[in-house]
Amino acid sequence: MRTVVYPGSFDPLTNGHLDLVIRAAKLFDRVIVAVAGNELKQPLFTLVERRDMVARAIAEIPNAEADSFSGLLVHYAAERGASAIIRGLRAVSDFEFEFQLALTNRSMNDTVETIFMMPKDQYTFLSSRIVKEVCRLGGDVSPFVPPFVKDILERRMRAQNDGGRLPN
Ligand code: ADP
Repeated sequence: MRTVVYPGSFDPLTNGHLDLVIRAAKLFDRVIVAVAGNELKQPLFTLVERRDMVARAIAEIPNAEADSFSGLLVHYAAERGASAIIRGLRAVSDFEFEFQLALTNRSMNDTVETIFMMPKDQYTFLSSRIVKEVCRLGGDVSPFVPPFVKDILERRMRAQNDGGRLPN
């Protein structure tokens, strides 16, 4: 049984993330999409919200499941019996950080391989940060995220804008 962990913030999940899960599910027996709870950046969605979003988006992929973790990824991967970690490469700009991360993880546990995958061309420019920015500015995010994520994202943005509006 070959298990792979696909970690990330998924704040929110995009079609680029989903594209990678679908690809990984063809290569591995089990794909665990693991939402990281210990990132430095302040996420728009809570850990539970992000995990639920991932779970809903991958519900129809029988060998994929959603989970969350905190602490070191290599510890989590070993705990879940994973032989590999999937990371996405969109553009050259991702490379340097991902390279450092992969080698650091390998120095801590060299039994877990990092595998890089590329999404469909149309998703190579997509990031959660860009999707949030487009939505915040009133743009249509439907080409970038599943329809239910679009609804949740728009609702959260509206709530934030209402909360932050100055009184007349
Ligand atoms: P983001 O960079 O979008 O905020 P995450 O921290 O959730 O995303 O990313 C988790 C992993 O998924 C990283 O390896 C990242 O490079 C990859 N990833 C994110 N968006 C895409 C995409 N559009 N295509 C391929 N990989 C992606």
